[in-house]
Amino acid sequence: MNSFKHNNKDYPLTITRKRVKNINLRISSSKGINISIPFNLTEARLESFLKEKELWIRTHLDKIEQVLASRDNNIAVSEDIFWLLGKKYDCVYTEELAKDARIVGNEIILYRPPGRGNYLPHLLLKKIIITEAVEQITNAYERVKPLAKSFTPKNIEVHIRPTISKWGTCYTKKAKIHLSYYLIHFPIECIEYIIIHELCHFKYPNHGKQFHSLVESLIPNWKELNLKLRDPQIHSSFLDLKGFGIRIK
Ligand SMILES: [Zn+2]
Repeated sequence: MNSFKHNNKDYPLTITRKRVKNINLRISSSKGINISIPFNLTEARLESFLKEKELWIRTHLDKIEQVLASRDNNIAVSEDIFWLLGKKYDCVYTEELAKDARIVGNEIILYRPPGRGNYLPHLLLKKIIITEAVEQITNAYERVKPLAKSFTPKNIEVHIRPTISKWGTCYTKKAKIHLSYYLIHFPIECIEYIIIHELCHFKYPNHGKQFHSLVESLIPNWKELNLKLRDPQIHSSFLDLKGFGIRIK
């Protein structure tokens, strides 16, 4: 026997023979159930010991589960917030195994096994960021591209990159633009504005007066959108997306 079943969960059970006189039993959330027994103890005696102690073990496992659950809940409600297209969602955690996150109203339901921190929930959120970014940025690009048709190359390579310091970059000679994954946290108008901004660089490579009047002729409220893109609340929710660069066009 190397595990103990309780509430549909398997707890690791380690039995070690030692130079001890009595049977010693220990339970902890990180190491499971540890029992040390004398070298000459028979299997039958060990089994009857476990039977005797079963109720005690179960009571302790319940206590451990309660502590872990309350710790999880504390993290869940107050701090964990996710932004998608300018809308704020509260992260709510479930222990029910789910491959994808579910959005229900203002909440986003994420799988998080007890005592495991936010590794898995963050993985699910990253999946949303990547999927949504590819879809929304591709669509936004198709919508705004005709506006810049007269001054942009016919085929432009478009990449999405995990850049925090820049929303976009335009490589005029290579006919290529890079856009940031993190745009997906902001309203769709902000995404359209950044794409227009990068496309305008094909006409004016720097941020001069002519550049800004071209941007303004296409997106009159660009200053307001620029301000939205600085929202510190949204910035503080960014996840690390290193290594997720992708070409969409
Ligand atoms: Zn620029």
